[in-house]
Amino acid sequence: MIEIKLENITKKYGNDVVAVDNISLDFAPGSFVCLLGPSGCGKTTTLRMISGLERADKGRITVGGEDFDWPEKRIFVSPENRKLGLVFQSYALWPHMTVEENVEFGLRMKHVQKSDRTKIITESLDLLRMGPYRKRYPSELSGGQQQRVALARMLAVQPSILLLDEPLSNLDAALRLEMRSELKALHERLGSTVVFVTHDQLEAMSLATHVAVMNEGKLEQYDEPMNIYQKPATEFVARFVGNPPMNMLDFGDSGKNAWMYELQKAVAQFYQVKQGPDGVRKIGFRPEVIALQKHSHDGQEPKPGNWYFDGVVKAVLPTGPEQVISIVVDQLQFYVVTPPTKEYENGDRVTLSVPLRSMHAFDKAGLRITQQA
Ligand code: ATP
Repeated sequence: MIEIKLENITKKYGNDVVAVDNISLDFAPGSFVCLLGPSGCGKTTTLRMISGLERADKGRITVGGEDFDWPEKRIFVSPENRKLGLVFQSYALWPHMTVEENVEFGLRMKHVQKSDRTKIITESLDLLRMGPYRKRYPSELSGGQQQRVALARMLAVQPSILLLDEPLSNLDAALRLEMRSELKALHERLGSTVVFVTHDQLEAMSLATHVAVMNEGKLEQYDEPMNIYQKPATEFVARFVGNPPMNMLDFGDSGKNAWMYELQKAVAQFYQVKQGPDGVRKIGFRPEVIALQKHSHDGQEPKPGNWYFDGVVKAVLPTGPEQVISIVVDQLQFYVVTPPTKEYENGDRVTLSVPLRSMHAFDKAGLRITQQA
């Protein structure tokens, strides 16, 4: 099991594009790390620097204790010399080779004996449900099938480091889910260190031991998946992770509005920070922490530690196991997730109740505020 370390890595394209901006990341041996972020945030560039297909401008990359890229010391190890079982995903299959010959190719390169090769090819193709297609050529396969053969070819050599760039993107939803569980089980069996690029937050949350959330070349948070969800370090992470997204409220405009002013005060008190622009600037709460009532809470004893919003249902969106209800509160749009019921209709007046402890607070720089001791 091998550790990968990135220290203060920066990569520019030309003078204008800073693809990766001073990122430090430590991939523990045997971890499964997802690089997650929107298109263009620098995920692929980071992965390509680990593989050696791109060179860093600044910083230092070590793999298994060996320096691979350290511009300051003029150290750079070319991709073919980065041994350590580092496999970079390539979808490009050899067009003149059948499926099984493509998988065998990597094994030959590793000088695996013929008798073992046959067994490994069968196992890896079966794992990816490609056994029946082993005599076909790539041109006779769909895009998703080609992607599975490419995965089988990589897994066959049992790499100690596996670098994957959106490897499941061409698969349909059912197969993608199946492949996720296969990959996860396989990772546990092989113990490889996996770096996996995705822009799909669900994929990252369900696969990774650690998620690195990136935005505009910078690292926003590097943490275990549940911490990313439950304790987002920045407003960006809070908004990016979660579907439907976290409800966000900006107190920048609270001067206009008495209830916002009161809510800002209550949250500041809860977090024990000073009130005003240098304290809580924004709050967010997830759609599933909201308790919904069909009538106003007027006349009821409010539960201490809760905040109440009155709103009007704009749309009810059933998803099957649950429903998303879109609600307008004083021209602000909130989403609530509830079990499926026919209780709510457009135009219903409702009350949303949210515990203060479920409200995430962010300062004006967008950083998470934690409760003062
Ligand atoms: P996606 O999810 O769309 O693949 P990404 O997060 O992987 O995006 P990168 O491919 O790493 O993003 O690109 C980061 C930034 O660097 C983008 O602004 C991109 O346009 C730019 N970029 C990437 N490769 C090059 C290149 N060869 N030349 C110039 N700019 C590049």
